[in-house]
Order: sequence, then C-alpha cells, then structure tokens
Amino acid sequence: MAYQVLARKWRPRSFDTLVGQEHVVRALTHALTTGRLHHAYLFTGTRGVGKTTISRILAKSLNCVTGVTATPCGQCEACVAIDADRFPDYVEMDAASNRGVEDMASLLDKAVYAPVSGRYKVYMIDEVHMLTGHAFNAMLKTLEEPPEHVKFILATTDPQKIPVTVLSRCLQFNLKQMPPDRIVGHLAGLLEAEGVPFEPLALRHIARGAEGSMRDALSLLDQAIAHGGGRVEESAVQDMLGAVGDEHLHALLAALASGDVAALLAVADAMRSRSLSFGAALQGLASLLHRTALLQFAPEALPDEGERAVLAPHVEAFDPEFLQLAYQIVIHGRDELPLAPDEYAGFSMTLLRLFAFRPETPGGLGGGAPSGPEPGAARARSWRGGEARGGAAPQSTDGAPPSERGARQPGGPEGPLAEVGRAPAIVPPPAADFPDGPKAEMSRDCPEGNPGATPSLADPAALMEGDWHALLATLKLGGMVRQLAQHCEKLRFGDGLLRLRLADTHGHLMAMNRGAAEKLQAELSAHFGQPVRVAIEIGKVASETPAQREAVAQAERHKAAVAALTQDPFVQGIIERLDATLEVASVKPL
Ligand SMILES: [Zn+2]
Repeated sequence: MAYQVLARKWRPRSFDTLVGQEHVVRALTHALTTGRLHHAYLFTGTRGVGKTTISRILAKSLNCVTGVTATPCGQCEACVAIDADRFPDYVEMDAASNRGVEDMASLLDKAVYAPVSGRYKVYMIDEVHMLTGHAFNAMLKTLEEPPEHVKFILATTDPQKIPVTVLSRCLQFNLKQMPPDRIVGHLAGLLEAEGVPFEPLALRHIARGAEGSMRDALSLLDQAIAHGGGRVEESAVQDMLGAVGDEHLHALLAALASGDVAALLAVADAMRSRSLSFGAALQGLASLLHRTALLQFAPEALPDEGERAVLAPHVEAFDPEFLQLAYQIVIHGRDELPLAPDEYAGFSMTLLRLFAFRPETPGGLGGGAPSGPEPGAARARSWRGGEARGGAAPQSTDGAPPSERGARQPGGPEGPLAEVGRAPAIVPPPAADFPDGPKAEMSRDCPEGNPGATPSLADPAALMEGDWHALLATLKLGGMVRQLAQHCEKLRFGDGLLRLRLADTHGHLMAMNRGAAEKLQAELSAHFGQPVRVAIEIGKVASETPAQREAVAQAERHKAAVAALTQDPFVQGIIERLDATLEVASVKPL
C-alpha cells in the first residue's frame, strides 16, 4: 500500500528532522562535534519515543564517510546501509528475546574484532533490562575496558532493573514522551507536505491514541489514511481507534454540572454498548478538564476559537478548585482501571467519585443540603458529597429517598385526597377490544363466592402463578399507572378478575390517577389475550408491595454504594485533605 511508505518516509533520519528530545540531540551533537564520545549510552523512556531512531542516527554520525559528524550525509554507503538495516557494523539486538549469557557472549566475541566496513562497531541492545544477571556480568567486563572501535547503545523502558554497575558506566539520557501538541503539529506539517486532506480534530485523536509515542502516531496516521480512503477525517479516526467521541465526554461534564447521576451513568452505559475504551475515556476526560482549567486561567493558551466555545459551558459550570480535584480523581481512576473488577466498574466508580465531590452551587439550589456550613469551613465544606440539587436531583423510583421508604409520597399529601379513592373501584374492561367478550360478565359483580376454587388451565391465574411482582415487571405500563400498581398488593386473581389493594399510605395515587385502573385493565387484557377486570381497594397492605421490595433493593444498593465510597482510600484521602464531608444519605447507588 502506497500510504505505508508515508510513515517510513517520514521516520527521522537526522537529528534536525527529529521531533522532540532536544536535550538529547544537543548533548550528542556537542559530543560528536567536539570528538568527546562516550563508549556507552543508555537511552531510557517509554516505547516509541525515539530510542531506536536516535540510535540509528548516532550510528550514521559515527560511520558516515564524511567523517564523524552530527549531520550524517544520508547518501553514502554507510548511511544508506544503516537506514536499510544492513550495515555489518551496526547490530540491533533485542534483549527480550536474546537475554541469556550465551547470546551476550557471542555478541561480545565479535565485538573484539575490528569493524568490517565502518569506523565503529555500534551495538544497540534494546530492552536491556531483560538481560539475565550472567549476561549483565559478561557485558560489564567489556564496558569496563571497551575496545576503541566499539560503542554501546543500551535502551530500556525500565532503567530500575539495570544493575548500578552497568548504569554507572553509561551516559544516560532520559527520552521524554511527546506532548500531544507536538504530535499534532508534526502530523499536520507532514500531511500538508504530502497533500493529504485532514481534519485537525482527527489528529488530536491520533495524538491521544499514540500516548506520547511519535512512532505510534505515525503508524496510526498511516492506518487512518488507509481507513479514510486518502483523507484523515475525525469520524473515521474515531471509528478506527474505538476512540471516545468528545460528545460523550461533554455529556459527562454536563450531567455532572446539573447533578444528574442518572444521565451520568446513561452516558457510561451508552459507551459500554458501543464498546468504547474506558481507559481512553478517562484520558480524554482528564484532557478536557485540563483544557477547561487552562481556559479559566489563561485563555490565550487555547488559541482555537472553536474549542474555546465548546469549553465555555464547563468554564461556567465548575470552579477552579473542583477542576483540580476532578482532574486528580480522573487520573487516579485511570491508574486504577487495571485493578478494577472490570473496566465499566472502574469507570463508573470514578464517575461516582466525581459526582460525590462536585461543588455545591454557591448560594444556589442545594435543595437537600443541610443548613449552611459553619463559618470558616465554607470552602472545604462545599465539597459535599453527592447531595441533591433541588429539582434536578435524581430520585429513587417512587420519588422517596430510601429513609422514607414505606412512607407517603413526598409532596403527595395524605388526607382528603387519599380518602377520595377509598371505595373499591371496579372498572369494566374495554369492551371494544374484545367484541366477543361476554358482556354479561362485565356487569357481574366480582365473584368472591369461591375463594378456594382452583383456577382452570385457561385461567390467567395459572399463567400468573400468583406472582404479582413478576407480572408487573413484564407489563408495559406508563409512569403514573406503574407507580400506582407498584404500591398495590395482589389479593386474588380468578375468573378474569384481579383484586388489588393499594397501600393506604399511597391512597392519593388513586385520586391522582382516575384512569389508572382502566389502563391497567387494558394492559392486562392485552397481556393475557382475554378480558381481565381490575378491582382496586385501599387499605393496609399485608404483604410486600413491588414498591416496597424495590425500596429495599434500592436501600441495599445505596448501602453498598456508600460503603464502597466510604471505604475508598482515595475518597478518604480527599475527605481528610479538604476537610470535606460525604453526605451519605444522598449518595445515589449505581
Ligand atoms: Zn553518510
């Protein structure tokens, strides 16, 4: 594929085309031009930051026919052969696969002979920390008294595993990860030079995906060009990377700002259903928080007008302290992700932490907040855990916080309203739906006469098997009707009549739902494929209603969520540091 050439073509072949690592280039250039060469170099740094690239440039600098130089010609036999990986005096060895003492011994045996065609024999040992102790010892002897014509370039992602005796004989350079902006800039310049059309945001995704590695960025760019049929477009790159679209991240921050935990988790669910990477999401979120904070303090640091407009709502919604804290929580969450039971759990735990510590709106809604914090503790106290913010607050299914479960509906006054529906209401089934339905039966009173009768097989009661909870769960009921039904216990179901008792604590629901019984009846009739009548009376319920069962389950989830949060060392740390409090009652379960 023609595009594959692109990354290789743009692989830096000289120090001046190398992007980043200026400190290394400066030191090496100085050593090369002054002829003060060390015999062993150690390059440390994460993968793809340029260790092998610099090693090859250094090998050319030492062997170029123009002489030892910081600017190898790139044309001569030596330069071309090193670039093509066929120079006899430049050996790259991967210590991950050649880690034993025999491998090292055979390499060192050859090192004593003079170079075949070059000035220096250059040995590049990658992942050198993988060598065995014996192999290190073998190498150490050569490092102590190196032949004049031998240069060692050791490279590692994990310098702490290298014996001090070896470290002390090397000139060490720490190669830095490439900042995303550098990657974006480099890719943009490259694409412009190549005449490949691109969307700048696509490059940002690639830079994010490359995690500081220019090599990865280049190969991702190659894939993106192939993937996009010769163009680099944001949507195609997102698809390719399974990248988390910024819209998800913005939605998370918006949900956080409005204190809507349901919306927050809905975003997480949507991401899971699309198999998006939660690690990438946390990274993206950290970046978003960072850029938002940047915009608060130094707007000029974000030259992109469009980006400033997109971030403006977050700048408004969050104060600087929260952004700092949120950034920490997100970074920490990403570190912890591999330790989580699964990525989704780790991700939603991080969201829960963010939610628990989101700032209180100053002097604003704060509906469920305890009366004001004592003076002097105002700042720290504003990091109150997950309290409801007025009307926007998420509520449990029946609108009552767990502590009020079983109690009456908040805002739904008991008394006069509740009395209204106290008489049993028997509503005829919708006759139109069942033209052949026996009209006579509909007008008949409820057949209470035979309570012990076993329902026939045709009787829906057999299908229902007495479990009102399970039946209710399968019905497609609207909000208000469902709410009413959930506060009912089943008394009896037989001969086409379902008798329910609405908990007297929720009697007002009957008055508020004049058509509820009809709707329930219509839904049941459709469900069983035959007419079903519903009779609802109000009274003291003797068994557990679905609403009560749900409240118990909700309370248990709440307890688990609170336990998870309060036992969370990270959250404890924040609480201690900020003298914050966690409003336990208002933490919402996931
Ligand atoms: Zn040359």
